[in-house]
Amino acid sequence: MPVNIAIDGPVGAGKSSVSDAVAKRLNILHLDTGAMYRAFGLAMLRMGVDPMDEQAVTQHISDVNVSVRYEDGMQHTYLGTEDVTGLIRTGEVSAAASSASSWPAVRRAMVAAQKRMAAEADMLIDGRDIGTVVLDKSPAKIYLTASPEVRARRRYEQNLAAGDTTSYQEVLDALNQRDLQDMTRATDPLRQAEDAVLLDTSNMSFDESVEAILQIVERVYGKQ
Ligand code: C5P
Repeated sequence: MPVNIAIDGPVGAGKSSVSDAVAKRLNILHLDTGAMYRAFGLAMLRMGVDPMDEQAVTQHISDVNVSVRYEDGMQHTYLGTEDVTGLIRTGEVSAAASSASSWPAVRRAMVAAQKRMAAEADMLIDGRDIGTVVLDKSPAKIYLTASPEVRARRRYEQNLAAGDTTSYQEVLDALNQRDLQDMTRATDPLRQAEDAVLLDTSNMSFDESVEAILQIVERVYGKQ
């Protein structure tokens, strides 16, 4: 049986870093779908298209080619032939990704690409609609969360380490704004799939979170 693991959750729940560690331990690929929406958001910003304008965004979908390649097991996200991996982690791109990703045509294109990738390899996929849409048949689904304050604190500290001095309050406000947008959009909003295991990491270390997910995977797939 192919290994397909779905991890969803709100901003700053640690999905990317925890997923990376779990995938490494299982020796499978990790697809960070947020990076794909971010690359799309970056394309909209560069083209001067308002990501909130559904008609304009939809008109430009066929001009944008988002793809993912793995180099030494690490995901690199491309816009056409340009590797944009290092350009998509800004606040501006986060907000553009969250707005553009609410439009059905954008989601259809991304979901189709993600399903194709999942059919070709054992994969752990993280995002917002993985357990509910992309890997809706996966037997291993996790909804990873933590309190907004804990998530904002983690994000704030990550930012500081990267030289970004945005205040804690601004980080918390942006996180709440993005979660609200992601949870209330009409198409494939962020929600816990009925058969997903809820993992609240507010009081867990990074290593404890990784171990907890590995245990859930082992219950489904046996020891890998
Ligand atoms: O996970 P990350 O924060 O990088 O995702 C950026 C944005 O992309 C999210 O705020 C969300 O709006 C969108 N997204 C999505 N569906 C996914 C992954 C991300 O709508 N599967």
